Amino acid sequence: MSNYNWCHNPSCHTIETQSRVRGTGDNKVLRTVKIKANRYNGYQSNIWNYFCNNSCLFQFLNKFGQEVANIRPVKQPSETPINVKKTKSQEYRHQWSNGESNRVPYTSTRTSISLKNSQE
Ligand SMILES: [Zn+2]
Repeated sequence: MSNYNWCHNPSCHTIETQSRVRGTGDNKVLRTVKIKANRYNGYQSNIWNYFCNNSCLFQFLNKFGQEVANIRPVKQPSETPINVKKTKSQEYRHQWSNGESNRVPYTSTRTSISLKNSQE
C-alpha cells in the first residue's frame, strides 16, 4: 500500500475549501484531498485511509450504497446466543409529604446480558 490515497468521494474536488485549492495565478483548481495512510494512528483505517472526512464518506455512500451493500449481501438475520440474568434488589425512593421526606421501599429489577460463547 502506498503512503497516500486520494479521497474516494468522486465529488471531493467540487467542495469549496481553502485546503483543496491548488495551482497559481489564473490556473487555480479545487483538487481531491490527498490522504496520508494511517493518520489518526491507524484509528478506523479501513475507512479513513480512503475518505478525507465524514461528509465525503457519506456522499460516497449515498451515491454507491447499493453497490457497497452488494459486496456482502445479507439475506437473513444473524443471531448471537446470550445469557439473560435478572437481579432483584431492594431500593428506596424519597417521597415528600407535609414538608417531610420519607423513604419508600420498592423492588428494582436489573437485567444484564452476557454472550454465551464470549471467546468469539
Ligand atoms: Zn474528500
